[in-house]
Amino acid sequence: MELDLLTVCYLLGSITFIVGLKMLSNPATARKGNLIAAGGMTLAIFGTIFLYKDDSGLNLQNFSWIFGAIIIGSVIGVLAAKKIKMTAMPEMVSMFNGMGGACAALISIVEFDHLSKNSLTDNQGTLMIIMLGCIIGTISFAGSMIAWGKLNGSIKDFSFKGQHFFNITLSLIILSLATYLALYETSISTIIFYCIFILAVLYGVFFVLPIGGADMPVVISLLNSFTGVAAACGGFLYDNKVMLTGGILVGAAGTLLTILMCKAMNRSLLNVLIGSFGGNVKNSNGEQTQSGQYKEISLSDAAVIMSYANKVIIVPGYGLAVAQAQHTCHELEKILTEKGVDVKYAIHPVAGRMPGHMNVLLAEADVSYDKLKEMEEANEEFSSTDVVLILGANDVVNPAAKTDTASPIYGMPILDVELAKNVIVNKRSMKPGYAGIENDLFYSKKTSMLFGDAKKVLQNLIAEIKSL
Ligand code: NDP
Repeated sequence: MELDLLTVCYLLGSITFIVGLKMLSNPATARKGNLIAAGGMTLAIFGTIFLYKDDSGLNLQNFSWIFGAIIIGSVIGVLAAKKIKMTAMPEMVSMFNGMGGACAALISIVEFDHLSKNSLTDNQGTLMIIMLGCIIGTISFAGSMIAWGKLNGSIKDFSFKGQHFFNITLSLIILSLATYLALYETSISTIIFYCIFILAVLYGVFFVLPIGGADMPVVISLLNSFTGVAAACGGFLYDNKVMLTGGILVGAAGTLLTILMCKAMNRSLLNVLIGSFGGNVKNSNGEQTQSGQYKEISLSDAAVIMSYANKVIIVPGYGLAVAQAQHTCHELEKILTEKGVDVKYAIHPVAGRMPGHMNVLLAEADVSYDKLKEMEEANEEFSSTDVVLILGANDVVNPAAKTDTASPIYGMPILDVELAKNVIVNKRSMKPGYAGIENDLFYSKKTSMLFGDAKKVLQNLIAEIKSL
């Protein structure tokens, strides 16, 4: 009877994961979806703690350890989530993902210990799942920690000649040792298992170290899918359906997200993994240059042209997130709307530094979802737009993606802002963005630069518009 109740808990947990994931795909339902999935996870955890019985009919014990760990983990999780800045979100995701990988690896280590007390070769299927969970979980843990260090600036990009050959050799050694361990039981089987673990740590470190620091969000998404697969191995091992469903969902979602991010940047995964992208300040010929003449616009002129426009489209980018100017930006939108201007936002899929970054940022400021236009929709509207206001965006509006075949972003779909009558670009200097390349849009006849920190500029712009 109790086991049946546990099965019901697991079934409900699995359903909430699927429903939650579906709801996460829309900004309007994302928060609720997250809570629903978290509720399902809580049900599955407490169901396991109180209802699970082993083969001899015993419940789980060590409640003080279990609840001690739950309390410590919950306090750290809540504090970290509350304190984290939106721009540091990929960093936190990386750290939490690493913890998931470490859990999967620890499960494998504990279960290997149990299995080695019996016969390893008599339980080859179980042994292979243990090794798979250990290798993938460990790589995900070690790689995520390096990604976390790179994002917070404590670890620099590092590579040496022949590093890719070294990585391939390392992975072949790991696979050979795992195959040997699965086929032959010897007195050094335990030593071989721990060698595999140590080599997997090294592989995780050397796999992520040479990847360009700015490509970390893609790598984290890939490692996230690894953690999902490692957790699914735990589900197989314990015949635990909810762990299996959760692991498979994370694995599949992480893989899809990785593919979508690469597609939106028009780069292959291989190029991300070996490309070392986004470091230096270069133009597409690899030179460190600044070219052409740009013109500036005063705050009062910008205020006038926007106030008397029929339609204004705001293009938010990474700089808006850095300046934490989302609330001020919403205020500008409201003031212009009161003046009868039709205001919308154009959202590029890889604007910012994480998937959905701009949607999350603007949702935080209570911007109405129907004002947010996806790239394809926005591109149809630019030709009938009077003013495009670019706030801290650069690569996502760079025409080189369409015109310069030598550019690293060539082929990336961009926002066609130059179709509008006027383009105002707000940033602090003429420095390039993530891809480290020049942007000819800034030198175009239609474009005027409005220099300064996005938040300060928006505050001043609002004051000017109010005084008109
Ligand atoms: P970019 O990184 O291209 O440009 C951001 C611009 O913001 C900079 O040129 C900077 O110029 C300006 N800026 C910085 N701080 C401020 C501030 N306080 N006030 C005003 N401006 C500021 O950003 P985009 O959003 O256009 O493009 C995102 C890039 O990130 C793309 O290349 C994408 O491929 C990449 N990427 C995106 C991921 C995602 O999932 N979203 C993941 C990985 C990479 P200045 O210093 O002169 O102020």
